[in-house]
Amino acid sequence: MVGFFVGGGGGCPSIESRKPFTANHLNRISIVIPCFNEAQALDSLLARLDQALATVPDASFEIVCVNDGSRDDTLQRLMALQHNRSGLVVVDLSRNFGKEAALSAGIAVATGEAVVPMDADLQDPPELLAQLVALWRQGFEVVVARRSDRSADSWIKRVTAGAFYRAHNAMSDIQIPNNVGDFRLMDRAVVDVLNALPESRRFMKGLFAWVGFRTAAVDYVRESRVAGSSSFNGWRLWNLAVEGITGFSITPLRIWSYMGLAVAGLSLAWGTWILVRTLIFGHDIPGYASLFVAVTFLGGLQLIGIGIVGEYVGRTYIESKRRPPFVVRRVYRQPAERGSSAT
Ligand code: UDP
Ligand code: MG
Repeated sequence: MVGFFVGGGGGCPSIESRKPFTANHLNRISIVIPCFNEAQALDSLLARLDQALATVPDASFEIVCVNDGSRDDTLQRLMALQHNRSGLVVVDLSRNFGKEAALSAGIAVATGEAVVPMDADLQDPPELLAQLVALWRQGFEVVVARRSDRSADSWIKRVTAGAFYRAHNAMSDIQIPNNVGDFRLMDRAVVDVLNALPESRRFMKGLFAWVGFRTAAVDYVRESRVAGSSSFNGWRLWNLAVEGITGFSITPLRIWSYMGLAVAGLSLAWGTWILVRTLIFGHDIPGYASLFVAVTFLGGLQLIGIGIVGEYVGRTYIESKRRPPFVVRRVYRQPAERGSSAT
């Protein structure tokens, strides 16, 4: 039997309970796909997606592709594909806003009773959908896809990702499992809460974890990219990691009080030791080396502290402008679907 529930409540007026699944009711499910320079991947993506969707019983699908300011002909490919099929919505952003924003845009436009974000490069196997939907119908509001094998990712990516999740989870109350990405099914109640979150800097993995809800997991093996190359190089991943930690934890700020206390304690002890030594052994000529090391060490420590405080001040500054996380140039819907929901 399906779980009945009314999601969230906490200040989110748009939440309604999901229609229960019954034999004569088709569940409408939205697949949200952020696309940045994915023109080569789109044909195989939609072909495989269509095959997988056909295996999900009693459901109708809407595929929302978000063109995140691609520099190749992703938009033209999407328009051509939309011409020849139904159920494809194309959201064109005004420029490249990054995957997190593109995902937010797609989730905001999606109209399904459940929403499934998925990468365009087929690294998230669409065949898993039937299992995700089955668990959702059992009453889970979130069904995450857990990577049981990440050997398709490079070892450096796996090691750095592991280090990030350990650091993040040690510092934050919000625990992000290290083998779970954005690929998941979310009930409308969860999606409404995500859409109602006011922040413009959106680290989706963190937000997904933050909203909570009853969650189940399905294991899968992460595949290699079907075409093109990853747009996340080391620097972008580092920035995403900083975004994730500063967005969900203030521990890096607090560390400085303790660091200051520890350094002050040490210098007090050292000063006392020098005083005692001078009183017992007489006048001592202090060396430059210890002085130099102490000054530069403390200088470096202070700069790191200021840098971290600056990171949070910067975030507050950017959030205070209340700019939207993305700008939609246009939403393209098929003629039959136009007017059925806001663009
Ligand atoms: N993506 C996006 N905007 C960006 C970068 C990436 O919408 O600025 C999309 C990309 O098209 C893909 C997904 O995000 O569908 C994941 O990107 P990618 O495969 O490059 O990342 P990885 O799988 O290597 O983490
Ligand atoms: Mg990928």
